Formats: sequence, C-alpha cells, structure tokens
Amino acid sequence: MAKVEIQSLKGMRDLLPEQSYQWQFVEEKLRKVIESYGYQEIRTPLLEKTELFKRSMGEVTDVVEKEMYSFTDLNGDSISLRPEATASCVRAGMQHGKLQQQIQRWWYSGFMFRHEKPQKGRYRQFQQVGVEVFGLQGPDIDIELMLLSWQLWQALGLDNVILEVNSIGNLTERQNYKQDLVKYFEQYKSQLDVDSQRRLYTNPLRILDSKNPEMQTMIAKAPKMLDYLSKQCQQHFVEITTVLTQLKVPYRVNPYLVRGLDYYNQTVFEWLTPDLGSQGTICAGGRYDGLVTQLGGKAVPAIGFALGVDRLIDLIQATQIKFTPPALHAYWIAIGEQAQQQSWSLQQSIRQALPQLRLLNNCNGGNFKTQFKRADKSGALYAIVLAESELEQATVTIKPLRSDEQQQTIQQTELVNYFATIIRTKDNQ
Ligand code: ATP
Ligand code: MG
Repeated sequence: MAKVEIQSLKGMRDLLPEQSYQWQFVEEKLRKVIESYGYQEIRTPLLEKTELFKRSMGEVTDVVEKEMYSFTDLNGDSISLRPEATASCVRAGMQHGKLQQQIQRWWYSGFMFRHEKPQKGRYRQFQQVGVEVFGLQGPDIDIELMLLSWQLWQALGLDNVILEVNSIGNLTERQNYKQDLVKYFEQYKSQLDVDSQRRLYTNPLRILDSKNPEMQTMIAKAPKMLDYLSKQCQQHFVEITTVLTQLKVPYRVNPYLVRGLDYYNQTVFEWLTPDLGSQGTICAGGRYDGLVTQLGGKAVPAIGFALGVDRLIDLIQATQIKFTPPALHAYWIAIGEQAQQQSWSLQQSIRQALPQLRLLNNCNGGNFKTQFKRADKSGALYAIVLAESELEQATVTIKPLRSDEQQQTIQQTELVNYFATIIRTKDNQ
C-alpha cells in the first residue's frame, strides 16, 4: 500500500475492481433467492433524522449510545447516517401508508454506518442485506424467514453455519423474567463486569448478550426466558422448532439469545459460524410487533432479519475456492486510421446484437505488436483484428489468445454469429 497524504477513514474500505466482483457475485445470489420468495426491494435514504433511531433502537443500546454518526446539518437539525435499516423501513412504510391492513414482504441492500472499533468483520461502513415483513402474526412467517435465510447460505455453498433460536415472549412475561434475572445477578453483584453492573437496573436482558468470557459461567446458570413463556408463546415457539427439526435445519435453542428492547417479542434468531472467530454472527433477526406503535402508528406485526455482507464474503474467502471474475470474450485490435474509423460502427452493431459480449476496445492506437500485447494482458479469450487486408475484404481475423485453436478470418457479417456461439459455449463451461 502506498502512503498518500489523504487516506480513507478508519474502518471504511475501498472495494477495488478485483474485490467488487466478489461482492456482485454474492449480492446477485442473495437477490435471486430473496426474490424467488416473492420479496420486493425497498431503497431508503442513507440519512435520517437522529430521532428516528433514538426512538426505534432506543437510547440505551450501544449503537445509539455511542456508535452513531450524528451531526447537525446546515438547518440546525440533528441527522444521522443510518446504523441499520429496519427503522427506515418502518418509517417509510408508515409515511407511505403501506403498513395498515396490508402484508408487505420487503428486502433491502445497502451500507450502514457505526462508529465501532474496526477489526476483521467489524467495520464503520458495512453492508447489510435484510428483509422486513409487515402484517403477519406468525409463526408461519417466522419459519419462512428462517428457511429463506438458510437457503441463502446454501446458494453460497456455506454449510458450516448454525441457527440459534429463542423466544423472548411478550412484555408481561418478560417483566416477570427480568425481575428474577435481576435477583439472580444481584447475588453476584461484585463479580459483574462494569458493563453488566450498569445494565443490571437499566436493561438486565443485555447482560445475557455480554461477549465477556468471564461473564459466561454466570450467564449459563441464569434463569431462562423459555420457562416464563405463556401457553400461547410456547405454542408459537414449538411450531417453529417442529418445522426446523422436520426439515433438518442445523439449529439449536439458545435460551440466552435476547434483544434488549421492549418492542421485540417472541421469536429471535441468529446464524453463527465458527469460521470467523469472534465476529461469527452473520445474520440476526426477530419479531418486533411493538415498533410501529413505538414510532406513533397503530400496531402492526412485524419480523425481519439483517445479514452482514462483509462477513459473508470473509467467510466465503476463508472456506472456499477463490473468486475469479469472468474473462473478457474479446479485445478489438484496429490497425490504421481507416480501420479505426470502421471499428466504431462494427463494434456498435455487435454490442447491440450481443449484450452479453464482454468486448474491450483498444484505445490509444499502437502498432500490431503493441495492441496484441495489450490484448494478451487484458485476459481476453480472443483478439478481433481489423487491419488493411481485412478492410479490403470486409472480414475480421479472430485470434485465439488462450487456446491452440486455429486463427480464422471470417466475414464481418458473421461476427455476431461467431461470438454468439463462443458466449454460449464458454460462459456455460
Ligand atoms: P455484533 O453483535 O456482531 O456487533 P449486532 O448485534 O450489532 O452484531 P445487528 O445490528 O443485528 O448486529 O446486524 C446484523 C448483522 O450485521 C450482524 O449479524 C453482522 O453480520 C452485521 N454487522 C453488524 N455490525 C457490523 C459491523 N460493524 N461490520 C460488519 N458487519 C456488521
Ligand atoms: Mg454491534
């Protein structure tokens, strides 16, 4: 890496062309699976009023407390780069009257911003792909989201992943649970780490979310939310796990999987992998039937998940063969002024007839040797040569660059057919 005066911001990465191909590959697979389930894409702004995130994610979450990129704009309004997209989806749904008495299955893909400590799998600008469903009580939709996300990993050839599920019940059940949880942790008050001591009376559920290894034995003996569920919530949860078992989804119940905010209820789930070290959560989801009310609307049942594309790509790189971008089909060589002139229209017609053709045009002139060298360096499968003799006879010469096929001179009118066959055979190999 060269030292330059102005570097990119910490935790914000450039994706160079050799990397962006990997992203396109993954994004395309994700999109295809999600759309095959009938979900429609929503795109919302990167900037929102800070208040939206404060009211939706809550002021006592790490994200809102200390990770938001918030600033005052020229009008004096406090605005923030979105740290996640659920709040924006709910806002957009309410604003456009799309949530009441309707069913929506939405998906999104985009950058999120959090001022975290950058490390592998944790960046300040990162990409999430997520889905949000409104208007369905479940548990069928809960199951659908788990199966959909499972299918995403399958489409990407990732099999070392496991689904963790839990139910955090409804508000009253959780209040009873919280009381007992506080009582339990109070016994060990002096052994709690600083974060947990702070959370004990503000948000005790979040103690269960602690990543501190020293807290784990204490957490492992804490009361379990599942023991506090009402009959109805129990039934909801059992319906989900029954299907997961039937379909052999790799899953386990994690009774300590939680969300710390009141508008979350019942189903929570995460997909984890052991292949990414401590940043092993690739996807997190859950039901949030209380969020629309929290933002001032009439209650709407809702559930969603978000996955981290950066982590998915790290995972694919850690476990699979390298990505190689598809090669150019051809490099266009034109020798001489007149050939160059004619090339424009010839190229134009072949590009129009074959939109899948990857054809690189030689720029900056050069003699045959120079252009040929560039053609070779481009990685193209063939060079298409238009020189004086080809001009006279209305032909082009096709030189294979990566195989020992014979060089051929064909009529210019044959070019489209010729490359249509190449695309058919080479792209399906
Ligand atoms: P973590 O516990 O790893 O901080 P989180 O609970 O903050 O994750 P969510 O807000 O649920 O994460 O986001 C969903 C997914 O987005 C995560 O499972 C992860 O894959 C990804 N993600 C979250 N924060 C980052 C980040 N800073 N960099 C890269 N990916 C991230
Ligand atoms: Mg986080």
